[in-house]
Amino acid sequence: MNAPILESISLFRSKSRSANNKTALTACLLALFVLTGLSFGNQVFAAEDAAGTVASQGSGDIATPAQDAAGQDALSPDSQTTDAPAQNTPVAPARFSHPASVAAGEPFLLSIESDTTLEGVTVEWLGKSLVLGLENNGQPDNAGTSLRCILPVPLNSKEKSLPLRVTENLFGKTVYSGTVAVTQRDYPVQELTVAPKYVNPDPETVKRAQAESKKNRSILTQVSPVQYWELPLRRPVKGIITSEYGFKRVFNGEPRSQHRAVDFRGAEGTPILASADGKVMLAEEQHYSGNFVIIDHGLGVFSMYAHLSKFEVKEGDFVKKGQLVGLVGKTGRVTGPHLHFGFSVLGESVTPEPFITNFRVKESAPAQKPAKPAQGKAPAAKAVKPAQGKAPAAKK
Ligand SMILES: [Zn+2]
Repeated sequence: MNAPILESISLFRSKSRSANNKTALTACLLALFVLTGLSFGNQVFAAEDAAGTVASQGSGDIATPAQDAAGQDALSPDSQTTDAPAQNTPVAPARFSHPASVAAGEPFLLSIESDTTLEGVTVEWLGKSLVLGLENNGQPDNAGTSLRCILPVPLNSKEKSLPLRVTENLFGKTVYSGTVAVTQRDYPVQELTVAPKYVNPDPETVKRAQAESKKNRSILTQVSPVQYWELPLRRPVKGIITSEYGFKRVFNGEPRSQHRAVDFRGAEGTPILASADGKVMLAEEQHYSGNFVIIDHGLGVFSMYAHLSKFEVKEGDFVKKGQLVGLVGKTGRVTGPHLHFGFSVLGESVTPEPFITNFRVKESAPAQKPAKPAQGKAPAAKAVKPAQGKAPAAKK
């Protein structure tokens, strides 16, 4: 289990457009000036709230508290009015939490919590920007005190660590700066035998497959600004896993790319259920994937369902978590009926493992009891909840 990183920062709010705008602006600029001086090292950026509390856990340094950033010390006496501080009072500190290390090919959760309403923020990761916050969820007066996003560590990532930065949208200032260490998993080799046309396809088919791949990619790299997903994800079928994410595939003796999805066992006709709410972006027959569905869950998160025998949704449908998407089949490049379940975040195919409860259920007798293995045994829920406010209980 990875140790969570938990840091704290004051996010500033500017509420008033009253006659005191000028004063408010002065206070703001001064506050920002103080904040600007607070970036230390590679891990942490923190400021103190008005009450003087800095919450922090995990590795890295905490900046020396700013003097009451927007308060008395920062304001020159002549600019201070009775209500000026109230207009630019730092709200309670926000807490940033994510795993300290993540394996290549795994996604992780970044959560930002605050005791008061959060303004929007932009998360910068892998050179991409992901905007979170009230402007995007359409709840201007009821923005939550919690923002979340799922971020991917690419399977082919060779870096020792990756930088993570969060800026607040109001002033564009950095409110969190850290790194996520990248670890490598040793993925096993899997030998498979399929029809020859799927290993060395004719030029016509290559063209078709490339066009389909390009189309899929153009969908998976979109980022819908609304978060439809919630965790944990729903297991799409009841079957056990027959081929894990990351397996190095060898088809008919010829090495091919790693398996960037999870295969679930399922007899033909087994219902496949949507892992989360979302919009159906694609439902069509493709060369490798057979009958294939892609669902957009928002904020760059997508789930994919391949080899279906039957579609139960069409492009443009909005599905709810647990809704019937289609039936298990053996269309496309397969050795038999199963569900090939893909999970993509910001255009990177990663394993859904951390976000599916009881991911590796054991095969059991036909009559199933409510699948709930004893806690502590299940390898699922890995990076899902970096227990907030707890000391990093880093083991292994
Ligand atoms: Zn598969």
